[in-house]
Amino acid sequence: MIKYCRRCVMPETKPDLYIDGAGICSACTSFQARQNVDWAQRRAELGELLDRYGSRDGSNYDCLIPVSGGKDSTYQVLRILELGRNPLCVTATTDKLSAIGRRNIENLKNLGVDYIEVTTNPVVRRRINRFALTEVGDISWPEHVTIFTVPVRIAVQMGIRLIVWGENPQHEYGGPAAAAEGNSLDRRWLEEFGGLLGLRVSDLIGQDGTESRHLIQYTYPLDEELRRVGVTGIFLGYYMPWDGYGNALYSQAHGFETYHKPVEGSLVNYENLDNVQTGIHDYFKFLKYGFGRATDLACLHIRRERLRRDEAIRLIRRHDGSFPWRYLGTPIEEVLDEIDMSLDEFVRVCDRFTNKKLFLCDARGELIKDRHGNLTKVNYDNADSEDPLPASEPSWAG
Ligand SMILES: [Zn+2]
Repeated sequence: MIKYCRRCVMPETKPDLYIDGAGICSACTSFQARQNVDWAQRRAELGELLDRYGSRDGSNYDCLIPVSGGKDSTYQVLRILELGRNPLCVTATTDKLSAIGRRNIENLKNLGVDYIEVTTNPVVRRRINRFALTEVGDISWPEHVTIFTVPVRIAVQMGIRLIVWGENPQHEYGGPAAAAEGNSLDRRWLEEFGGLLGLRVSDLIGQDGTESRHLIQYTYPLDEELRRVGVTGIFLGYYMPWDGYGNALYSQAHGFETYHKPVEGSLVNYENLDNVQTGIHDYFKFLKYGFGRATDLACLHIRRERLRRDEAIRLIRRHDGSFPWRYLGTPIEEVLDEIDMSLDEFVRVCDRFTNKKLFLCDARGELIKDRHGNLTKVNYDNADSEDPLPASEPSWAG
């Protein structure tokens, strides 16, 4: 049986998530704690940080914002501009950029910022996609690496001392208490919590002809270099109450474009629009841990009283973890062809990474799939689910 949080619907199989004796997960507990935060105080702290790290004479940027053009980074840029600061925006190109993702990047630039985009060698990138998918079950591994390394490298090279990240994923998605307390991101954070799954950049050398000279942008600056410039990173979500849906509304009013229907495997149309490989990434999360993007979104909305828990479970059953035949309308065959993998080989990789304890199997222990290749979880709620927790008081402020 899979055990779920009694307030949201996150399963205990999520890495680093802790469900306490009352059946409440660490992400829900962390969210509740936001009610006690003095946001005016935090905002003042942010202003002080920007004063301390920003450019005094205007000869350099005040901060660097890693951006993708998505709802959150558009929101980050808007807020920093509203505070009268001059950011440099930096994108590490996604694994397979979609057309809508490109349009949202152009929109972000037109908010009125300087912008740098670093695209790593696409031939090497696709080899790493394939290697990471078959070795650690995460096609998006190289993207997760460069999202962190590229902005930090540019900050060092350009002498920009402050990097403004979005939310701390450990905060609301749940993570170790020590990490949730922190408001900064450094190499240690990346290595421990950045989702690298034990695969190191140096492990790629010698794989399919990959050499260290191909991996410059995948390499985090040395501690000495960071110290020399004095680069520090903060999460904006520590200083402002973070809500992805609210960020999407605010960004939409500034030109951010949403998808014309809910994204495949998700519940909504306003996020993860910039990488066509994301459907495969999310599907592997489902195979390994028994939850996908629909569960993530349901939990965010349950905590904010925008979705009832029983409704969420119905929506999750319908949308979570379907075989990723298409993502943003692109057929899986096209995505796999680029990384030199057949559909048959892909299905074998899927089966190898599937946690069979989480899904129905037949008498011989083989996974039961419907005619579309979809699996069924062993359970979608706790056994004692007739006794759900009463909804807490609405807390729109936090
Ligand atoms: Zn929870």
